[in-house]
Amino acid sequence: MSIQSINPYNYKINQELEPHSDQFMEAAVERAHDRFTTWKVESFKVRSDLFMSLAAVLKNKKAALAKLMTLEMGKLFSEAESEVEKCAWVCEYYAEHAEKFLADEKLKFEDGEAFVSFDPLGVALAVMPWNFPLWQVFRFAAPSIMAGNTALLKHASNVPLCALAIEEVFLEAGFPQGVFQTLLIGADKVQVLLEDDRVKAVSLTGSEKAGSMVAKTAGEQIKPVVLELGGSDAFVVLDDADIAKTARIAAQSRMINCGQSCIAAKRFIVVERIYDEFLEAFTAFMKTYELGDPMLSTTKCGPMAMSKFVDELEDQVQRSIRKGATPHLGGTRADIDGDFFQPTILTEVTKGMPAYDEEMFGPVAAVIKVKNEEEAIAVANDSRFGLGGSVWTEDKARGIEVARKIVTGAVYVNRMTASDPRLPFGGIGKSGFGRELSHYGIKEFVNAKTIVAN
Ligand code: NDP
Repeated sequence: MSIQSINPYNYKINQELEPHSDQFMEAAVERAHDRFTTWKVESFKVRSDLFMSLAAVLKNKKAALAKLMTLEMGKLFSEAESEVEKCAWVCEYYAEHAEKFLADEKLKFEDGEAFVSFDPLGVALAVMPWNFPLWQVFRFAAPSIMAGNTALLKHASNVPLCALAIEEVFLEAGFPQGVFQTLLIGADKVQVLLEDDRVKAVSLTGSEKAGSMVAKTAGEQIKPVVLELGGSDAFVVLDDADIAKTARIAAQSRMINCGQSCIAAKRFIVVERIYDEFLEAFTAFMKTYELGDPMLSTTKCGPMAMSKFVDELEDQVQRSIRKGATPHLGGTRADIDGDFFQPTILTEVTKGMPAYDEEMFGPVAAVIKVKNEEEAIAVANDSRFGLGGSVWTEDKARGIEVARKIVTGAVYVNRMTASDPRLPFGGIGKSGFGRELSHYGIKEFVNAKTIVAN
């Protein structure tokens, strides 16, 4: 069956592509495996120069790559341009720091010389989602490949053109064949790849279901796995928060990428003393997110990536309403062509509702009123997810104390949660395990080898 790349704004078919055959996949795995023998002994200088060149290619092709993302999954063109820049940044970041991060680590050992060397593992597989079609891939590829691994990408089926474009930019930057390859294959082929002895590790970003399936096979095969799954991040507003600023960033944090971000703020937990004031200001900002053509700079919210995501989100919202939530703003798909959902605020949200218990992957904010700081922390932690979160207060020290009590992979105080090459990124609970980015990320796909010599 052919793969269709469809524009969710107008349903035009961007292109129809044939999936790669089993023979193609086999040849790609062999090429990646072969290339590893030379790539792993390449100097950091060579790898680093190539990543600097890749960053330059990305910057040169920024508009074309951004347009591809917008056409395939509806992201605002302006956000897509920023995404390309961020990919260039992560290439530069690891080009600059990988050698230092992976330098031998001398150990205190009185009985001889002892140190840890960090060796690459081999072919690493990336199973990636559509929501940040370039960033998710580069976040994996830059550290893994700088560490000396080679990479295979199985991207989400709705962004095949982005997937192919990523391999092209690697080749244009001068990377040898086989260092980074895209496979246009279905999810059913991932198991085949993981059962192949030449594939040594896997990184998946996506849903709990896909993560669980991939981790199961990786477990059976005894291969390392990193999982970046969903989140239902708490956005905790304490009674001393700067309401105007907090409400503006609350809307931004919910609406980025049309709400389709794992670390978007999803549950807005607001202390009752300032609840009404916050809700009024937040609603005013949410109303400014007018829907429209994602290519236009005047549009603030584009379509969702696929029709099925609109259906699923509407179902979650309606089930929440049937259980007692109030649609304070929006609440349904938008009455216009394209895969649009109205910016939505649900209030009176309580445990047992999808808006409280599940990840809402779209422009829907669940607002939860709590009595005080203590209850805010309890509600923030009352989630099976644990990816990010934020705390809003004029008292930084108080914010940090609250942050310490929130059980999640990251908490930002008075700042929107966002991934950044310099900061470790990842979750706990059903949000997954392992870390990407920073020095933690590059150590996920290496063998920390102890060497002792007398
Ligand atoms: P999926 O998890 O289904 O897709 C992510 C990637 O995993 C895609 O490449 C997909 O391939 C692949 N995949 C899917 N099922 C399997 C499987 N059984 N074995 C191996 N690979 C698999 O996410 P969706 O696109 O369906 O989005 C659904 C939900 O996932 C969202 O609503 C959101 O909750 C969550 N999500 C979280 C993201 C995050 O950033 N943490 C990103 C995207 C989604 P294919 O496309 O071919 O199915």
